[in-house]
Amino acid sequence: MKREAAYRGRMAPTPSGFLHLGHARTFWYAAQRARQRRGTLVLRVEDLDLDRSRPEYRNAMLEDLRWFECLWDEGPYHQSERLPAYRSAMARLVDRGWVYPCRCSRKDIRQAAQAPHEGDEGVLYPGTCLRRPIGDPLELWRSAASEGRGTNWRFRVPEGRRIDFFDVGRGRQSWVAGSDFGDFVVWRQEGLPAYQLAVVVDDREMGITEVVRGEDLLISTGRQLLLYEAFGWTPPEFFHLPLMRDEQGVRLSKRHQSLTLRRFRRRGVAAEQVRREHGIDLPGLAKLFAAGGDQPASQNRQRRRTSST
Ligand SMILES: [Zn+2]
Repeated sequence: MKREAAYRGRMAPTPSGFLHLGHARTFWYAAQRARQRRGTLVLRVEDLDLDRSRPEYRNAMLEDLRWFECLWDEGPYHQSERLPAYRSAMARLVDRGWVYPCRCSRKDIRQAAQAPHEGDEGVLYPGTCLRRPIGDPLELWRSAASEGRGTNWRFRVPEGRRIDFFDVGRGRQSWVAGSDFGDFVVWRQEGLPAYQLAVVVDDREMGITEVVRGEDLLISTGRQLLLYEAFGWTPPEFFHLPLMRDEQGVRLSKRHQSLTLRRFRRRGVAAEQVRREHGIDLPGLAKLFAAGGDQPASQNRQRRRTSST
């Protein structure tokens, strides 16, 4: 019998505000999954948004996670300290022709898109810079003032490619590259990796075997699977959790100040009580795990597939 690789999960909060109940639920479940599988839980601080990330939020976050019993075994790692890893991964993508520089502004893209899909995902990139002659891309990447500054770089998605995978929580998922999402930014002109590239490099280098996160990131998984493929890496498993909503059905966000862990703590409420009152418990996790999202049961029985051909 094949021996199962050791489970490695992660919590990856962004220090741009106080943690609210929705974050807490995702991280608590991530912690339970790691515990159930006798695995290791890694804490990674996603602080690449230099304008919005604050050290005081970062410190509060660590305190609040401990208070809520989301206990990690390794880290915290900080994305802001991992730029050399992202740069070397990016150089590989440039070298293999997976990315190209893009000089379009948001306004250019809106104007050039002939059939704008104005959904959550915004407008599909119309490919304006795809065929722009640029000379030797590797030279351009290296010469860009202090490593990758001054231009955005986009990942060239294989047009029309179906991407299928089996989500542990939501069941079978499927997208078509080029119509569900277009060529996406992997490197930003500020000289920093975009979210998609940074998390793929991190999850790979940190040996993550299962990613537990909110379902707002579900479609990002389609993009990330293409990145795994471009690098020749095996992707982890994914478990996307439904987002927590308030009584009006609005997704919890920073505006829900009354629902931050900080606020509960200040009012002297015990973490255990917060979990009980908001259904953050093992039966809740088991229900999410068994439900397999809104997929019909027959689809849930399909074997997991990673990115397809
Ligand atoms: Zn462009």
